[in-house]
Amino acid sequence: MSTYAAPIRDMKFAVKELVGLDDIAGLPGCEDLTPDVVDAVLEEAGKFATGVLDPLNRPGDTAGAKFSNNVVTTAPGFADAFKQFSQGGWTGLNCDPQYGGQGLPHIISAQTSEMWNSANMSFCLCPMLTAGVVASLMRHGSDAQKATYLPNLVSGKWTGTMNLTEPQAGSDLSAVRARAVPEGDHFRIHGTKIFITWGEHDMAENIIHMVLARTPEAPEGVKGISLFVVPKFLVGADSSLGKRNDVKCVSIEHKLGIHGSPTCVMAYGDADGAIGYLVGEENRGLEYMFTMMNFARLEVGIEGVAIAERAYQHALDYARSRVQGREIGVKNGERVSIIHHPDVRRMLMSMKAQTEAMRALATLASAHLDKALLHPDKTERAGNQAMFDLLTPVVKGWCTEQSIEIASTGVQIHGGMGFVEETGAAQYLRDARITTIYEGTTGIQANDLVGRKVAYEKGVTIKLVLGEMRAFDAELGKVGHPGLAVIRRSLAEGVAALSEATDWLLATFPDNMKAASAGAVPFLKLFGTVAGGWQMARAALIAKNRLDENSEDYDFYRAKIGTARFYAEHILPLAAAYKQEIVHGSSSVLALEEAQF
Ligand SMILES: Cc1cc2nc3c(=O)[nH]c(=O)nc-3n(C[C@H](O)[C@H](O)[C@H](O)COP(=O)(O)OP(=O)(O)OC[C@H]3O[C@@H](n4cnc5c(N)ncnc54)[C@H](O)[C@@H]3O)c2cc1C
Repeated sequence: MSTYAAPIRDMKFAVKELVGLDDIAGLPGCEDLTPDVVDAVLEEAGKFATGVLDPLNRPGDTAGAKFSNNVVTTAPGFADAFKQFSQGGWTGLNCDPQYGGQGLPHIISAQTSEMWNSANMSFCLCPMLTAGVVASLMRHGSDAQKATYLPNLVSGKWTGTMNLTEPQAGSDLSAVRARAVPEGDHFRIHGTKIFITWGEHDMAENIIHMVLARTPEAPEGVKGISLFVVPKFLVGADSSLGKRNDVKCVSIEHKLGIHGSPTCVMAYGDADGAIGYLVGEENRGLEYMFTMMNFARLEVGIEGVAIAERAYQHALDYARSRVQGREIGVKNGERVSIIHHPDVRRMLMSMKAQTEAMRALATLASAHLDKALLHPDKTERAGNQAMFDLLTPVVKGWCTEQSIEIASTGVQIHGGMGFVEETGAAQYLRDARITTIYEGTTGIQANDLVGRKVAYEKGVTIKLVLGEMRAFDAELGKVGHPGLAVIRRSLAEGVAALSEATDWLLATFPDNMKAASAGAVPFLKLFGTVAGGWQMARAALIAKNRLDENSEDYDFYRAKIGTARFYAEHILPLAAAYKQEIVHGSSSVLALEEAQF
């Protein structure tokens, strides 16, 4: 079993050089974000991930969370690790200092989240959802709700959950049926929620559930859903714990992966009705929940990056030690470890190159989120919000889809030992599998991308992105470097494919939504592939400039150019195939409609 080592050098590169720390450190509230602070936070987080969370990953998978009599007992070591995690201040990393948080921007928490997820994705889901509850209460909660819940959520004394799904309401939340009946200053909640991550556990004193439900006179559909805070233990005005609320876990799921994370069926109001408090205005619940969901979508995209990185490290470790075959092309050569075989090297490079591209894209999206939240200029905030909105389904959908492929390549590198559980490679593939399903499946992300984020706004934001890509192409054109010339050619072809597919989509969507929808997932993958290639090309140019300046970090920058070139030659050419699949959308819709199943 390999030991996880956080890829701190590449993370620092993404934060400081690719996105640019100055941009973020200039935002109000981020003045203390010096390069030294970034280094210190990443180094400490890396130590925690390696020393505390990684060793619990495999035991968490084998022991799993246990359920008995409405009580969930977490895997051995999890509760203690969560205590250490909270005491270290990690739960409140990007929360408002007013409520005890550290106020660090998302470009930093994106890196620490990647570390926690690489080391132990099951564990990480608990603080991730808690941070989502904090974000949603910060934006939509009343002052009293903020004062009552936020300090203990931020400190990790309590944790939070997100309760959307019901048996008949999965991707389509307009079908939510949970009821909220008014009673004085609160509501009584009744209904069943399924698949609730960390809905019940033994790691914290209280659990704060954010629940979607309908009030008695609410209209049908998504416009009749409200959001409620429902604590497991009722909370006094001074935040002291009162009696147990009428909400309980009635079972947990037996799953393909993330065994350490309890996935709970929650029953609300079996007795008198669970006491819940309305957040914001009635019937605007789904809109509020989107604050939490968009944050969670970025985080799940980062889970994809994290699992890909972990699977890569694990496969690399194995490839170095597994001796099999002889060096190709060498007569009577020595037996060698498999890392010497070109095909194994190809697989390792495809894992590494895609993971670095995904990290770069997730960091870029996080920077847009920071600027959308903190920039003093209203127009800048709006522009960055539009960019973040556009990139969110891409980071969520593309990084997670790729993570499954990358984890599967990791299994392949292990040969037969990848298929047996003891090596641990299989766990990464099993854990990765959920990431394209929860927080909106890839199909739902893709519909969101082509519909709300591209077609409805007539391509305004995506055309800005395409413009940035073309401006960068012109910059690359001025550089006389053979490796970068290869990268430039491939990126230009990718950008042309994305541009053509965008034009097709904008022309097709208004009259033939089915055709546009048939091409939605390929469009999402096309966007991710080209945007990832763009970031890798930018990375290669930065690396070349550093080498020209005789940087001491010669190995890192040289490797970066090599990895970007591999991406350009092996991954970017997929763009042409995706484009073909998209523009054939009209004919494929016919085939899909006539398909006999
Ligand atoms: C381990 C786990 C943890 C979870 N954690 C939580 C949680 O904490 N809180 C919570 O509320 N929920 C949670 N969920 C629920 C999760 O978000 C849903 O499973 C997910 O949104 C998909 O809904 P569904 O399972 O009902 O699938 P369905 O909606 O039935 O979808 C089935 C298939 O149909 C496709 N499909 C459906 N509608 C469309 C459409 N309009 N266009 C194109 N394709 C479509 C989907 O892409 C999918 O491939 C969790 C689920 C799991 C398995």
